[in-house]
Amino acid sequence: MKIAIMGAMVEEIEPLLENFKDYEEIVYGKNRYYKVLYKNSELYIAYSKIGKVNATLTASTLIQHFGCEKLLFSGVAGAIDSSLKIGDLIYASSLAQHDLDITIFGHPHGYVPEGGVFTNSSKELNNIAKEVAIDLKITIKEGIVATGDQFIASNEKKEWIAKTFNASAIEMEGAAVGVVCDALNTPFFILRAISDAADMDASFSFDEFLKSSAKVSAGFVISMVNKVAK
Ligand code: SAH
Repeated sequence: MKIAIMGAMVEEIEPLLENFKDYEEIVYGKNRYYKVLYKNSELYIAYSKIGKVNATLTASTLIQHFGCEKLLFSGVAGAIDSSLKIGDLIYASSLAQHDLDITIFGHPHGYVPEGGVFTNSSKELNNIAKEVAIDLKITIKEGIVATGDQFIASNEKKEWIAKTFNASAIEMEGAAVGVVCDALNTPFFILRAISDAADMDASFSFDEFLKSSAKVSAGFVISMVNKVAK
């Protein structure tokens, strides 16, 4: 099986490359893809660069060019749910684009005609995550993740996103990856470890905890790959 493991920033995939060590680097469309032979599977690891457009390109390339059949995303996010602390893990049950706005036509925020507001992730992969969390004796939360092309660092914005989408965490790629995977019939899993609280201190917190939280997320995905790879 071919499995994609994707991040947005180099810090999010570095721990994966350090873990798998032996990889082949393939340059495609100005991005680097790292191929790893693992059990009877091939892993394709890549970071997209931040934001929905870049995430769309990379997810699409992983599936359409490299032939990946499942996609696991690993990265960091801002917490909306106040029970989520730095380094805590959350996976997306579903995702929405909080910055997509055609409300003037009477549609809800995030609505895409012929699409809807939310894209659901793979129940099968989410169940594997629950099993892995039990095996590792760690807590992982499930929740709605809101995605947009903005770094959220304001209580006001955060509260609006919480209220409008019932979201637990905020980031800049997940929903785009979800839309691509859904359209191309590819089961996907979006994991995030918290790097900040999306409040006025978020940029400082992000800089301080990006590496450690990215490592937590990558470590969990590595344990999952062990169960997903066939
Ligand atoms: N510091 C970087 C930019 C990081 S953008 C630079 O200067 O190059 C933030 C990244 O982390 C995105 O990939 C996004 O998915 C995630 N993220 C973490 N906290 C976030 C928040 N509060 N709002 C939006 N995205 C967040």
